[in-house]
Amino acid sequence: MAPGSQPAAPRPDAPGDGGEVIGPPAPGLLLVISAPSGAGKTTLAHRFVAAHPDARFSVSVTTRAPRGTERDGVDYHFVSRARFAELVGQDAFAEWAEVHGQRYGTLRSTVEESLARGQIAVFDIDVQGGAQVKARWPDRTVGALVLPPSMQELERRLRDRSTDPDEAIRRRLAVARAEIERGAAQCDYLIVNDELDLALARLDAVVAHERARLGGAGEGAEAELAARLRRGAVDVRP
Ligand code: ADP
Ligand code: 5GP
Repeated sequence: MAPGSQPAAPRPDAPGDGGEVIGPPAPGLLLVISAPSGAGKTTLAHRFVAAHPDARFSVSVTTRAPRGTERDGVDYHFVSRARFAELVGQDAFAEWAEVHGQRYGTLRSTVEESLARGQIAVFDIDVQGGAQVKARWPDRTVGALVLPPSMQELERRLRDRSTDPDEAIRRRLAVARAEIERGAAQCDYLIVNDELDLALARLDAVVAHERARLGGAGEGAEAELAARLRRGAVDVRP
């Protein structure tokens, strides 16, 4: 699968009878979901994308090997270190980093396409990667830090997932605390992932709030809507 290619998503609020939608098109949003490994951000990100037709998952490029049921082009674009270096040379990444000894990068094309189409791009990337996306697109980025309800529960989830060797789990737990501290200082929202459905509802609320804020601040969005209402270009009858 070619990195970054996806058709434009239909607007979720588009009426079925072809009538005109009230309001400006939904603004594009970059939703950076960070978390210490094992907190549930991948699960949450995929559930969020499945529930929102105009959301897309930003498929990162990585040098690490696939785990379990992971598929190339769906969970990650799995590449060699040489190919990764080539992509760095082509300036293909919005950001990239070395995490747990492997390289991971966000494709610039994914971000740019999502913004152009007014989509919600969902990023499952580490805290400093999220900070780089925010630095590059400050007005469009919202950072949510997913937290486990406790460190014991984090360890239980990592062991339950059980695709990593013991050594890798110990390493992940060791960096988790630092990631939480750093993430909490940088993110816009904290989302405790105690129960998946509750965490998802919290994420929905965050996105609805941020989109409303962006829409309201859009370039003359209300003025344009008012002009269309006066022209009768928008039908508001029930
Ligand atoms: P991350 O992407 O943060 O490393 P995952 O999404 O892979 O984490 O989740 C880690 C493990 O925890 C997985 O086995 C997942 O099914 C499980 N998990 C995720 N969210 C919850 C939750 N709310 N309650 C219980 N288990 C969860
Ligand atoms: P995992 O190997 O468990 O899938 O991911 C390891 C870490 O790398 C996670 O914290 C994950 O969020 C992060 N990661 C995945 N993709 C990217 C990326 O494109 N950029 C950055 N900076 N981190 C990423």
